[in-house]
Amino acid sequence: MYRTHTCGELRLSHQGITVTLSGWIQRSRDLGGMTFIDLRDRYGITQLVFNMDTDSALCNEARRLGREFVIEATGTVNERSNKNPKMPTGDVEIQVTSMRVLNESQTPPFTIEDESDGGDELRMKYRYLDLRRNPLKNNLLLRHRMAFETRNYLDSQNFIEVETPVLIKSTPEGARDFVVPSRVNPGQFYALPQSPQTFKQLLMVAGYDRYMQIVKCFRDEDLRADRQPEFTQIDCEMAFVHQDDILNVFEGMIRHLFKAVKGIEINEPFPRITYAEAMERYGSDKPDIRFGMEIKNLGDKLKGKGFSVFDDAEYIGALVAQGCSEYTRKQIDELTDFVKKPQIGAKGLIYIRLANDGSVKSSVDKFYSAEELSGALSATGASQGDLVLVLAGNKTSTLKALNSLRLEMGNRLGLCSKDAYKPLWVVDFPLLEWNEEEKRFYAMHHPFTSPKAEDAQYLESDPARVRANAYDCVINGVEVGGGSIRIHDVTLQKRMFTAIGFTAEEAQRQFGFLLGAFRYGAPPHGGIAFGFDRLVSIFAGEDSIRDVIAFPKNNSARDVMADCPSEISDLQLKELSIRVALKE
Ligand code: ASP
Repeated sequence: MYRTHTCGELRLSHQGITVTLSGWIQRSRDLGGMTFIDLRDRYGITQLVFNMDTDSALCNEARRLGREFVIEATGTVNERSNKNPKMPTGDVEIQVTSMRVLNESQTPPFTIEDESDGGDELRMKYRYLDLRRNPLKNNLLLRHRMAFETRNYLDSQNFIEVETPVLIKSTPEGARDFVVPSRVNPGQFYALPQSPQTFKQLLMVAGYDRYMQIVKCFRDEDLRADRQPEFTQIDCEMAFVHQDDILNVFEGMIRHLFKAVKGIEINEPFPRITYAEAMERYGSDKPDIRFGMEIKNLGDKLKGKGFSVFDDAEYIGALVAQGCSEYTRKQIDELTDFVKKPQIGAKGLIYIRLANDGSVKSSVDKFYSAEELSGALSATGASQGDLVLVLAGNKTSTLKALNSLRLEMGNRLGLCSKDAYKPLWVVDFPLLEWNEEEKRFYAMHHPFTSPKAEDAQYLESDPARVRANAYDCVINGVEVGGGSIRIHDVTLQKRMFTAIGFTAEEAQRQFGFLLGAFRYGAPPHGGIAFGFDRLVSIFAGEDSIRDVIAFPKNNSARDVMADCPSEISDLQLKELSIRVALKE
């Protein structure tokens, strides 16, 4: 070993002993008679001291070392005269008696400190240097702990981890597949799994009634904010269970992770609300319930009084911003501009102030009497001192805009504390989603999701009304996991394929293996997958999943460190029987 201790380990109790440490030079300070070096490794930083009086040759040598040199230093642990209470090792320093340079380093392109001066792209290019910084290191340690505790918990619940293949037959789950050409089967391709969905279902048919896997998934999606083309799931499946059994087991897993990793007890049961309710109350299927401010439907209070904006609207919804009745014209204008942004899409914002003295003032005073406005206010539950914000229009888009406005107000009013964690389940999603462009239904979750027993009868006659046994786990407005009870009956599975526009032949060609398996005693089963990167980023308090992935891709799906994707040689192409059609 190149060391007796780590750079994070030594305390006053080690005083007087001789130790050897190895690590990277964080910085060095030359104070004439003495040279100090902060030596860093994964575990921390320890101060090394070189003394001109006792060993001038060694001290001179130390002065020549640059940042990020790798050295091995031996010396005695001494109490520091000038202690640093901010460092765990801050009570001691090492009086170095011998030292060896293990490797030199070029000057790094950015400072390797908690706050770096390097821009995003530069730090991505030198990710191995960025990973030396504490914030990233702590995120990776957290990630490891969470993976470990996930396995721990699921193992205690009788789950076994089974690896599933990475080269598979394409299974549509809503995104495009990454494909891999087969050299030995010219003209044929594998796909990388968007998730191990069909495999975990086959494992249920095979009798492995509790499966889990921390697994890479690949989706060739257009790059929306904070997506990665490859990401990690905690993927799980269970047999002989109802929806409640699954929710209970995984509520337990989330609770276990908070307790074991962050020391946070979440005692209350996770609320379970239906998709329909979530949309009505929050305008979102992933509501942030750290704060209330629920949407109130004011249709029957404000329609029919001659104000055409409201009279013509399919839906009128309101939010109560508590204590905001004194908002200035400028603040209201800002909110109006906010809701009118193209991505939010409202046409305008109407407000009603309920001042502290009980007086009411609104932007629609001339259309409504004081009583009518009071009636609307009481329907919202507003109190004196509150400001009511009203949007109107088409129901779906107005609810969506109200969701954005609610989140904006939550942030402005400081209601979204990073230290508060409010998980919930959203259940009873619609089974199918209409695609207006293609004029066809898609599976909202995936084609293996089972309809609710009482709704299955409408699969052909009124597909849009069919609800699914599908659920999402949401924490602080972020969807962290989703799953469903599966179809385990061939006939129903075939009806589902038909509902999403597959011919019998197509279904057989793509999913023949699954339909075949269902003929050999498929047990009732269901499962869930959690987005592991997302879950870690929530635990880490990071906004981007990139910060919890060791080697992420950038916004254009590129690995800027290795410069990939990249072209392959003509020989490789030839071997794969591939010709590139598009050449610059
Ligand atoms: N395979 C699904 C997904 O990746 C999760 C599940 O239904 O278990 O979203």
